[in-house]
Amino acid sequence: MTPSETKRVMVENGFTAKKRLGQNFLVDERILDKIIKAADIGANDTILEIGPGMGALTRKLAERAGQVLAIEIDGTLAEILEKTMSDRENVKIIRADALKADFREFIQDFTRAKAVANLPYCVATPIIMKLLEFNFREIIVMVQKEVAERILASPGEKNYGSLTLAARYEANAEIVTYVPPNCFMPRPNVNSAVIRLSPRLEKPVSPKNKDLMFSVIRTAFSTRRKTLLNCLSRRWPKDDLREILKICGLDENTRGERLSLEDFARLSDALKI
Ligand code: SAM
Repeated sequence: MTPSETKRVMVENGFTAKKRLGQNFLVDERILDKIIKAADIGANDTILEIGPGMGALTRKLAERAGQVLAIEIDGTLAEILEKTMSDRENVKIIRADALKADFREFIQDFTRAKAVANLPYCVATPIIMKLLEFNFREIIVMVQKEVAERILASPGEKNYGSLTLAARYEANAEIVTYVPPNCFMPRPNVNSAVIRLSPRLEKPVSPKNKDLMFSVIRTAFSTRRKTLLNCLSRRWPKDDLREILKICGLDENTRGERLSLEDFARLSDALKI
């Protein structure tokens, strides 16, 4: 949709974009086409779109996919979409909060489904964490550039944290393209990036207890300026920790941001004993 088409639909429906729902509509055809190309959609694919908005991406997805399931939280937008998408039998608009919706209610086989979306910035991180829990064949999402950088960060970098490690465990991540604010209406105050997350068939580490590993990771990043020893001592006795960190070859004065996923897997296995 061009900026003037988007404006026309907004005026016709008396609609004003809501900042709190991250309503920045994509109005740049080249970026829409880049997302579509990256998603490499086949006629048998089921696409889950979160936040269809005015339907700019939805329409292009529907032209290629077998089925598009579009979850929109805003009732007014869902109504507009039901009208404007009524010519597309393969589009289903679901009025719901994507964070609360049970994806299993509409998708049977996740390995044949792709998630493609321009995510609302306010909830992009929890939505990505949720998408990663399912076995989607691919996840192509637009996020705030800073979130993309957190996902792709390396140990020691300032953006490195729980999101980096969760994404690294579940998927291979890459940048598809960067997107400046002038590609949206209204313009956001931040830059964006489209990323591709391809779920891994084999995980990079095999901790004895995955949940414990992620809970250790969250604890290690709970206070970023504290040492690993001090963060973890909220849950384990300091003397035991000193011994365990030594066995794992980790300096007790180091910080969580220096540890790789492999280090956290080793550490959580040792903590479990
Ligand atoms: N896909 C459209 C586009 O590219 O122009 C709109 C993208 S806009 C950045 C984000 C959309 O997500 C908005 O339509 C907003 O109402 C919707 N949204 C925000 N929070 C949501 C949630 N928790 N669940 C589902 N949709 C949500």
